[in-house]
Amino acid sequence: MAIRTVRDLDLSGKKVLVRVDFNVPISNGTVSDDTRIRAALPTIKYILEQPETKVILMSHLGRPKGSPDPRYSLAPVAKELEKLLHRTVIMASDCVGEEVEKLVADAETGSVILLENTRFHAEETTNDESFSRALAKLGDAYVNDAFGSAHRAHASTEGVARLLPGAAGFLIEKEVQFFGPLLDNPAKPFVAIIGGAKVSTKIDVLKTLMPKCTTLIIGGGMSYTFLKAQGHSIGNSLVEEDYIETARSLIQQAKELKVELLLPLDHMVADEFSETAAADEIASPDVPDGKIAMDIGTKTIAAMKSAIAGAKSLVWNGPMGVFEFDAFAAGTLETAKMVAECKGTTVVGGGDSVAAVNKFSLAGKIDHVSTGGGASLEFLEGKKLPGIAVLERNQE
Ligand code: AMP
Repeated sequence: MAIRTVRDLDLSGKKVLVRVDFNVPISNGTVSDDTRIRAALPTIKYILEQPETKVILMSHLGRPKGSPDPRYSLAPVAKELEKLLHRTVIMASDCVGEEVEKLVADAETGSVILLENTRFHAEETTNDESFSRALAKLGDAYVNDAFGSAHRAHASTEGVARLLPGAAGFLIEKEVQFFGPLLDNPAKPFVAIIGGAKVSTKIDVLKTLMPKCTTLIIGGGMSYTFLKAQGHSIGNSLVEEDYIETARSLIQQAKELKVELLLPLDHMVADEFSETAAADEIASPDVPDGKIAMDIGTKTIAAMKSAIAGAKSLVWNGPMGVFEFDAFAAGTLETAKMVAECKGTTVVGGGDSVAAVNKFSLAGKIDHVSTGGGASLEFLEGKKLPGIAVLERNQE
């Protein structure tokens, strides 16, 4: 179902309560990366362009323990937002209560108010109904634009959406537009590239994508569990013994479904897991005794190239090696470049692959770079995200 968006709401004269993802890094009292704040601007600006509206923004920041903690105040975000919006942002001292209600009521139309961290109240994460009611008192309509928190059923992402007419903001709309078809009806050939450290955290993604994709490329630390399942030697590379059987059955399933499964054909190895370790290329899927495979090699990259070049849709989640160490970043860099050059629809999700794309300044060449790590993973697992499901229910 197409999700109702902010464009479908009549916002004229309304106080609009907007859940944004302002969970940004802060150092020495200032925002050190404003990407998430910028990402929320189109929705905020759109609401302000509607006649006689007030925008009331709410977000969590970090993990305060359910009570006020100045280290997690959103006040530095209000300052940053003022610069980006070129208008005053009123910082509230709390996110619920009479004082905040009065602040909102007294604010002129066209005002932007930022509520204090929702996680200063333990009731936020327990999705407490009376806390949701207290939040709902501040608005006449609700817009959720925090995809990064949509996989959590919290008061500000789920509870409050049951109480007000609600819709998705432009960020969530875009996430759904790009992720939805990958699971429902992907354009073929559909290539899925899954990397990262562990099979255990990606197992549901692999199971969900396997029957849908044309080619499944598995790289990164998790690929050694698969290579071991195939009988290859893996030296001291990362392995999850408990998942070897699972890996074996996924390999079998790929054969049955005629899905092309591409595992590393060669490796960049080191003697120790260290940033200063020298990288050696091993031109074989077998890792010698005592060596740790920390990146894919040139043969693997070449094999990936033709599959990726012909893809009509593609999703990438998880780095192909220890990309944080320069000597082992090439596999992930080359993957990012191949994804950027792919003519099909390209989607990158997951914290580390997004970090890799940004590290190599390739985000502009990818159709959709997800704003949610955990949320994008759960989407690819085929799960209904509570923050999105509630908006769909709301319109039935
Ligand atoms: P994930 O959060 O599961 O996507 O995993 C990302 C992490 O996997 C990154 O920190 C990478 O350094 C790590 N990683 C990727 N390849 C390997 C590898 N071959 N050995 C150990 N760690 C790896």
